[in-house]
Amino acid sequence: MRLAIVGGGAAGMMASVFAAGRGIAVDLYERNEKTGKKLYITGKGRCNLTNACDMEELLGSVKSNPKFLYSAFYGFTNRDTMDFFEQEGLRLKVERGNRVFPESDRSADVLDTLRHAMKKAGVQVHLNSCVERIRREGDLFFLDIQGGKTAEADKVIVATGGLSYASTGSTGDGYRFAEELGLKVTECCPSLVPFCIREDFVKDLQGLALKNIAIRVLDGKKILCEDFGELLFTHFGVSGPVILTASSMCGKKAQEKELKLKLDLKPALTMEQLDARILREFEAAKNRKFANVASAFFPAKLTPVMVALSGISPDKKVNEITKEERQRFLYNMKELELTIMGLRGYNEAVITKGGVSVKEISPATMESKKVPGLYFIGEVLDLDAVTGGFNLQIAWSTAVAAAGHACR
Ligand SMILES: Cc1cc2nc3c(=O)[nH]c(=O)nc-3n(C[C@H](O)[C@H](O)[C@H](O)COP(=O)(O)OP(=O)(O)OC[C@H]3O[C@@H](n4cnc5c(N)ncnc54)[C@H](O)[C@@H]3O)c2cc1C
Repeated sequence: MRLAIVGGGAAGMMASVFAAGRGIAVDLYERNEKTGKKLYITGKGRCNLTNACDMEELLGSVKSNPKFLYSAFYGFTNRDTMDFFEQEGLRLKVERGNRVFPESDRSADVLDTLRHAMKKAGVQVHLNSCVERIRREGDLFFLDIQGGKTAEADKVIVATGGLSYASTGSTGDGYRFAEELGLKVTECCPSLVPFCIREDFVKDLQGLALKNIAIRVLDGKKILCEDFGELLFTHFGVSGPVILTASSMCGKKAQEKELKLKLDLKPALTMEQLDARILREFEAAKNRKFANVASAFFPAKLTPVMVALSGISPDKKVNEITKEERQRFLYNMKELELTIMGLRGYNEAVITKGGVSVKEISPATMESKKVPGLYFIGEVLDLDAVTGGFNLQIAWSTAVAAAGHACR
């Protein structure tokens, strides 16, 4: 029995270890000159390889088709991921939000661990081998490899990833393979990705990070998502953890139509409490200029923007500010409104939403229901989660499920 794995990323590498460990011949085809290029850049080079939360949270963090993952997640849990890496000699640590990293803070060590495990298990790695086509003839699969070679296999696991960060090798080939073999692929879009914002003033705020703010994304009056955390202004719009998470919940909508993003810059205070605080500040500095007093509320970069948005002259003495003007200043602090004009592209997206339809795949084995012996794992599937190590857990769990079944 020969098993071919197409793609040497997180999912493909893990599947190859588990399959070869069971004694079958495993050939892994990777288009790049080395395996795991994307894994190397994960977690800002530290690789957040899973999340040490409970199963409920693990499933809750998956935003597309969480039910499909029930079997795979129970079959190879986040604890199993940690045990696997530790047994292979990689020491781990758990950080804020249960995020699991290698103790060394080096994604290269995660990669070395996988590469070493692959070697030990006897995986045949074929680098610089871009698979152009997968054909099924009778009971066999034929893989056409760039350069004219053809490889033969009894079973094939497709682990080609999504469309994000194409420079790492993931250019969406797996979607084409799936369609050519008669499987459905759902519409894809970038996810865990920054938002483009219409308002020009965001450019003046470039580089400013706001911690502990609350955000809401609205379609008209309907709240699409709410969150709390850190936001980063960029030259085109907004990014940072709260925005990436929001993009995974309402990114598809944001591509179709204009949405509003509301920022609450003072979420710990109610409107009334914040108004009382503004009044106290104004009272204590009656004859000072508004711009100087306003600076008590914001980081330096944000003050001129908030002053301009209030419509109050920066030089106006605070004891001359009317109630309406004060209310506008207050309102902007609690409900600063930005217009979402769409998403940034795949080259800035942590993952791809959409992919090979899970309706076509058996959840316990990752095998195609239509084409026996053909499996899909990792990001190529229509599965995605928020940040925190969950996307890699999807890759590990689906890989182990497919490897276990493909060896039978
Ligand atoms: C910047 C960034 C940071 C991230 N950080 C984290 C993190 O800290 N934690 C987390 O959980 N997730 C993180 N992710 C997401 C995570 O990296 C992916 O979910 C994961 O890598 C998906 O694994 P995969 O094996 O399915 O795909 P990939 O890792 O993309 O691997 C696919 C492989 O297939 C190869 N390939 C593609 N087509 C062919 C072909 N035709 N022939 C041969 N080979 C082919 C590619 O070269 C590639 O090596 C991050 C993503 C990015 C972009």
